[in-house]
Amino acid sequence: MTYQYLFGPVPSRRLGISLGVDLVPHKICTLNCVYCECGVTTELTLERREYVPYGKVIKELDDYLTNHPMPDYITFSGSGEPTLNLRIGDVILYIKGKYPKIKIAVLTNGTLLVNPEVCKSLMQADVVLPSLDAATREAFLRLNRPQHDLDHKEHIEGLICFRKEFEGKIWLEVFLLEGYNDNSEDLIALKSAIERIKPDSIQLNTLDRPGVLPGLTAVSFNRLNQIKDLWPFPNIEVIAPVSERQTKKSFRKDIENAVLETISRRPCTLTDLSHILGIHENEINKYLSTLEANGKIETLNMGRGIFYKLKRCK
Ligand code: SF4
Repeated sequence: MTYQYLFGPVPSRRLGISLGVDLVPHKICTLNCVYCECGVTTELTLERREYVPYGKVIKELDDYLTNHPMPDYITFSGSGEPTLNLRIGDVILYIKGKYPKIKIAVLTNGTLLVNPEVCKSLMQADVVLPSLDAATREAFLRLNRPQHDLDHKEHIEGLICFRKEFEGKIWLEVFLLEGYNDNSEDLIALKSAIERIKPDSIQLNTLDRPGVLPGLTAVSFNRLNQIKDLWPFPNIEVIAPVSERQTKKSFRKDIENAVLETISRRPCTLTDLSHILGIHENEINKYLSTLEANGKIETLNMGRGIFYKLKRCK
């Protein structure tokens, strides 16, 4: 069976072997973050719908889990905001009922947690990984470019409220970008919001590869570590840059070679590579960032999107 809504499994440091489930088509989201690795949001919406049919997702999950070893986690993520899918809670309940040994993680931008129905739908998850990049209106508009009815205060209140109800783990991700949300006012506001949210852990992250706007600058690794040292949270870590990531066991040389071979024949977009290689865009992204950081490939911005091509030797 070819899977349309499942991807991986991918080895993950924190989640073990994780099977991905994509509950919204590319690229439907409540935000249009300047740093998004999935590209520009084509449908910026707060409307919750059954974007991907429940029955089809369940069929794929049953087929996969009958014919493959059990993953440690099933992770809801992908190329948009998974809580926009109205049936996410039903999918979680189905997995919990039929495959109780598998844990469930949800990667979300957290903007819909202010809606009690969304909170309720995630209650059976084991881990929720929300993001919070902005605790001031200006930074929220600048960096996350939200759907116009979203408010940064409600985003934070939703996270606080969810924390009070949710018995699983909350691993918060904070994405920092130079000139967007790294000034002292933004950092102070973020710190006090996190104090109120009380996540179980915090990850500080920054740009690995081009986002959807040109000229974005990552916050340096040293600066991230300085911020980490200034914030008084016990479980806070800085995500290692790509150069360090390459040494990890999950890095597969065969996939890297397949990406290089494919784009050596003709430049490809992320979506082209995903179709040609049969690997989910999120997985391919990891290899593109490393190849780009190592100077092996370069990007070309053309009508159909960002193309990747081999870098010519000078
Ligand atoms: S919330 Fe996530 S998927 Fe949506 S635009 Fe931001 S980075 Fe991309």
